[in-house]
Amino acid sequence: MRHAVVSGASMSGLLAARALVEDYDRVTVVDRDPLPADVGHRRGVPQARHFHTILLRGAQVLDEMFPGLVDELVAAGGHQADFLSEARLVVAGHELVRTVTGASDIQTTRPVLEGAIRARVANHPGVEILSGCDVVGPVVEGGRVTGVRIVRDGVGDVLDADLVVDAMGRSGRARAWLASMGFPTPAEDRIDVDMVYASRLVRPAAPFPDKLVLVGPVPGRPTGFAFAAQEGGRWMVTAVGMAGDHPPTDEAGYLAFLKRSAPPDVHDAIAAAEPLTEIRLHRFPASLRRRYERLRRFPPGLLVFGDALCSFNPIYGQGMTVAALEAQALRRCLRDGERDLARRFFRAAAGIVDPVWQLNAGGDLALPEIIGHRPLTTRLLNRYVARLQRVGAHDPVVATAFVRAIGLLDPPSSMMRPGVLARVVVGGMRRS
Ligand SMILES: Cc1cc2nc3c(=O)[nH]c(=O)nc-3n(C[C@H](O)[C@H](O)[C@H](O)COP(=O)(O)OP(=O)(O)OC[C@H]3O[C@@H](n4cnc5c(N)ncnc54)[C@H](O)[C@@H]3O)c2cc1C
Repeated sequence: MRHAVVSGASMSGLLAARALVEDYDRVTVVDRDPLPADVGHRRGVPQARHFHTILLRGAQVLDEMFPGLVDELVAAGGHQADFLSEARLVVAGHELVRTVTGASDIQTTRPVLEGAIRARVANHPGVEILSGCDVVGPVVEGGRVTGVRIVRDGVGDVLDADLVVDAMGRSGRARAWLASMGFPTPAEDRIDVDMVYASRLVRPAAPFPDKLVLVGPVPGRPTGFAFAAQEGGRWMVTAVGMAGDHPPTDEAGYLAFLKRSAPPDVHDAIAAAEPLTEIRLHRFPASLRRRYERLRRFPPGLLVFGDALCSFNPIYGQGMTVAALEAQALRRCLRDGERDLARRFFRAAAGIVDPVWQLNAGGDLALPEIIGHRPLTTRLLNRYVARLQRVGAHDPVVATAFVRAIGLLDPPSSMMRPGVLARVVVGGMRRS
């Protein structure tokens, strides 16, 4: 009986488990938190109180992994917003032209999304989800990870495993485990963004015409917000401030903060809405990427997954979509057997993370407020993207290329394919 243990039952852990059920007789997913029976907030995922969207690509991948999931979420009151006919996107100060792209995100509150996926994973034969279990360390035999040590209700135990996956989030333990086993630890890339999210649920006083409004930061104003339809007629308001320009939590200060970036009609709709929750804060100091793919030695029997591999700046909404793509990559790696699994998986995951990390770094470093090295390529690319965003305000082809790239449906290079490039160059000249 082959057994895999996944540490962490948040989105990455559940998606990793979905990939593993194909090849392992038993998959045990372990989380420190007591997990809510259906939906509810918990300590281990504090970001769940803030706006979470599944990007266009993620919506497709999740529906492949869990057939019927999107319909189920919509039936439960969730939404899909077609970018850009039902979603209003304001990037670098330009509102993208409205057009039908045929690709939509998934918009539910995070606990509803996670609850639906947890239920689906738990229903797989061979899967067991253990809550209230703290994973405290690896079991190591002859340089191989052969299980994890857990503590449940104050009592220690061991779960033997052929494979252990660290999906314990950005503070994932694998680096400390490697050090304790005498293995090298991965280098860490970091982009300091000094960001705070401030969110609350509201009920609009009148029907609002869009399903989603996203306003990104601009040079000189490193703030933005999201206003998103959720289940039960509720809307999520999330204010975001980077580089120390943080949203306050008092009512007047919060609205004044939103007013700096919100179009007047959106500000007015938020101001008139009935608040359903307090304003909650979440601090996000830096994006982190751990270069496991560069390690020369890595113990067999262990993998690292999701935010523990790379924790992206959340304003781009990519973490869960990337985790879903990693799950697909893990399935492909397992189909080729287990020999050298970690090296092959980390290389495949790096191929997924690389372009997304570059996209993020470009977006962050387009803001003079963010400290970081800007090589010539970054500066040139950012000038091109700034022009593309300007043209995207009136050219549907360019706007569609942009949202497909940021939705991870197409690679970032697609924003420079000839048909788009020509429109950006000509359209940019006309406008300027
Ligand atoms: C403010 C914010 C907004 C975001 N918005 C988006 C968005 O719009 N779209 C998107 O795709 N992504 C978004 N993300 C990222 C997204 O939340 C993560 O990518 C996603 O949750 C996957 O992370 P994970 O499962 O790897 O880790 P986490 O979600 O951090 O989960 C880690 C899990 O490990 C458990 N755990 C930790 N330690 C132990 C232990 N010792 N033993 C047992 N269990 C343990 C925790 O209880 C938890 O369940 C956002 C993130 C933040 C911070």
